[in-house]
Amino acid sequence: MRVGIIGAGPAGLYLGYLLRKWIDPNIEVKIVEQNPQDATWGFGVVFSDQALKFLEKDDKETHDFIEPHMERWRDLTVNLPGATIPIDGVGFTAVGRLELLLLLQERARSVGVEAEYNRQVTDLSEFEGYDLVVAADGVNSLIRNTYVEEFGTKIEFHPNKFMWYGTTKPFDTLTQTFRKNDVGAFNVHHYRYAPNNSTFLVETDDATYKKGDFESMGDEETVKYFEELFAPELDGHPIITNNSYWREFPKMTQERWSYKNMVLVGDALHTAHFSIGSGTRLAMEDVIQLTKSLKNNPGDIRAALEEYEEQRRPIVATLVDAANTSLDWYTDFAQHMEMDPYDFVYSYIKRSGRISDARARMVAPSFMQEYDARRESQ
Ligand SMILES: Cc1cc2nc3c(=O)[nH]c(=O)nc-3n(C[C@H](O)[C@H](O)[C@H](O)COP(=O)(O)OP(=O)(O)OC[C@H]3O[C@@H](n4cnc5c(N)ncnc54)[C@H](O)[C@@H]3O)c2cc1C
Repeated sequence: MRVGIIGAGPAGLYLGYLLRKWIDPNIEVKIVEQNPQDATWGFGVVFSDQALKFLEKDDKETHDFIEPHMERWRDLTVNLPGATIPIDGVGFTAVGRLELLLLLQERARSVGVEAEYNRQVTDLSEFEGYDLVVAADGVNSLIRNTYVEEFGTKIEFHPNKFMWYGTTKPFDTLTQTFRKNDVGAFNVHHYRYAPNNSTFLVETDDATYKKGDFESMGDEETVKYFEELFAPELDGHPIITNNSYWREFPKMTQERWSYKNMVLVGDALHTAHFSIGSGTRLAMEDVIQLTKSLKNNPGDIRAALEEYEEQRRPIVATLVDAANTSLDWYTDFAQHMEMDPYDFVYSYIKRSGRISDARARMVAPSFMQEYDARRESQ
């Protein structure tokens, strides 16, 4: 079998590894990546402890290979004007995006798969004659954009703007800081992903973005603006950029996940807002299922692709729905900030629509005890 993969992100690299490891060590795998081997956009990515379990269950070896490189902590902190409220959490882990890619490159290399770097695929004809062509090329997928009608792609952009920064300040927990100034409201997701590095992801609503005229503010000036606004959190540490620019998060659906011998995986297929931290997990789970389906249907690519979609679609839909509900909560975060801080945090916990009160009492007992006590005393 000959498999062409566009993109050496988590989905592409892990698929290259799994195809040879689980199906046949002689499968021809060609991966093409536009970026250099040792570079990527963004900073760290976070997983919930539970989210890593998927990997442990299906591929303990890779789980055990990645796990020692992760930062971990248990709680989450919500930092509001005048109140810092801890939420006892289920536990989180994080890893630098580049570190994860380097680890996955090593996994791929262990089965003889080496991606070709520094080359952007612009013409799909280079994959003519391949049995399978996989779009692991992220949110702006060439394959998906070429066959929009065939995949039935619908994309809608969320009005909030976000900027993916990092910093050298190592934060103790995953922290959500919410701040207002004369321009409007801002939120930062910040967490440690290496002993001396944290993700520092700034988000703002459209009204604030326009009022602050961030569109015409230069890169350095924007960094300076946020270093001043978040000086108490940054504690003298600088904001670091890495291909950081204002973006809007897309909500995306596909009517079909494959067309002929081409298939979508990872961010090419779906997006899950970073507030629920599941995009990387989804991408890796997609290729686990795709590999299983190819193995279950030897010599019949179409049957394998149909099985892949049938198995994965309901699971992806549940997570993406939760991510989109969480994303919608952020649209109105400035209004939510008008609430009493404990009500705000309660609303934050419930933002994905997946957490009942009973579950909240299980996963965050200390916070819920305090919240319930305050409600009763009102
Ligand atoms: C701000 C932000 C924060 C996030 N935080 C988290 C988090 O905390 N936890 C989490 O789990 N997920 C997070 N994610 C999501 C996560 O980054 C993605 O879900 C994940 O990277 C998807 O993996 P992928 O391999 O499908 O795509 P990508 O990682 O996007 O990889 C696609 C690759 O394809 C390459 N490529 C694209 N087009 C071409 C081409 N034409 N030719 C050659 N190469 C090409 C790209 O260079 C890239 O390397 C976050 C995303 C964003 C935007």
